[in-house]
Amino acid sequence: MNLIAERMGRIDASGIRKVFALAAKMKNPINLSIGQPDYDVDEVVKDEAIQAIRAGFNSYTQTWGIEELRAEASAYYQRNFGVALENVMITCGVSGGLFLALMATVDPGDEVIFADPYFVMYKHLVTLLGGVAKPVDTYPDFKLKPDAVAAAITPRTKILLVNSPSNPTGVALSKDELRELAEVARKHQLLVITDEIYERLSYDAPPSTMVGMYDNVLLLNGFSKMAGMPGWRMGFAAGPEALIQQMNTLQQYTFVCAPSFAQKAAVVALRQDATGKCDAYREKRDLIYNALKDRFNVVKPNGAFYIFPEAPGGDGDGFVTRAIENSVLIIPGSVFSERKTHFRISFAAPNETIVKGAEVLNRLAGQM
Ligand code: PMP
Repeated sequence: MNLIAERMGRIDASGIRKVFALAAKMKNPINLSIGQPDYDVDEVVKDEAIQAIRAGFNSYTQTWGIEELRAEASAYYQRNFGVALENVMITCGVSGGLFLALMATVDPGDEVIFADPYFVMYKHLVTLLGGVAKPVDTYPDFKLKPDAVAAAITPRTKILLVNSPSNPTGVALSKDELRELAEVARKHQLLVITDEIYERLSYDAPPSTMVGMYDNVLLLNGFSKMAGMPGWRMGFAAGPEALIQQMNTLQQYTFVCAPSFAQKAAVVALRQDATGKCDAYREKRDLIYNALKDRFNVVKPNGAFYIFPEAPGGDGDGFVTRAIENSVLIIPGSVFSERKTHFRISFAAPNETIVKGAEVLNRLAGQM
């Protein structure tokens, strides 16, 4: 008897698993592989969560989340981007929002376009649902360009998924670049899903949102990066009413609601000033970029906490193996891309770890 559904055969986590299997054997790795910030949740936010728990705020909330947080998310976009959100629902992280959104929209054979290199979840969730993932190559500058998107569109294309600033490249698109993508989507009547989870970590210009650029934009954002609370599983979605309604129906039968106390605390988190976090991470960005730029072909990231250099000789898998043998944990680019030429460094690490890691990578590059 086969216990496992056929659809599970469509997804694969072997790339990342290999890295973690190797890492498990290491004593004191220089870990530059982590996809979460190294800062903690602000004390006022923790206090709010604890107080909510103590006050007995431990039941289910409404499926779409508590009113205060939905309103605060809208106010946050108004304050930071000059555009209020409509039809806000609270999700279990951006992952939860993404899952609901794709479940509600992707029929078998529907095509979903996104930049390659991509956040792994995009490709695998689309495929799991019977959709067709259409990664669009963005090497060497990692900018998703309107012409490349237009060229990938077919009569089956339904969704354009945008992630700026990006995991795994750290590249953020400008307001004009985002607007051009929105125009392509409008012309071809695509749904835009914009994953703005890294917007607070924008180093060289204020972040831009795709909200308000076109009617059919579904926004996903969350607290894992901006508030350093990935384990609390908090996010929000906003967009076309009909779609948010369906996502709510699905949430009712899956996640039910986001964690109650975390919703209370998230209201406070949205009111915090993240400038200090962003400044500290800009310094880390400068540290890693300056350390690598002479030896590696590398694009300077302007957001998030990743940098995506080309491996010596274009052998990403080989270079990562060598790095791991030398106790530096990084992720092969092949995990995030149809190409195998690059590798991902996360600089969400103490500065001395970044410096040590870069030293080893430079030394290895010199030997290859
Ligand atoms: N989108 C992107 C681009 C990410 O990098 C991540 C986290 N690594 C997520 C979504 C998911 O974040 P969460 O579910 O914790 O909100």
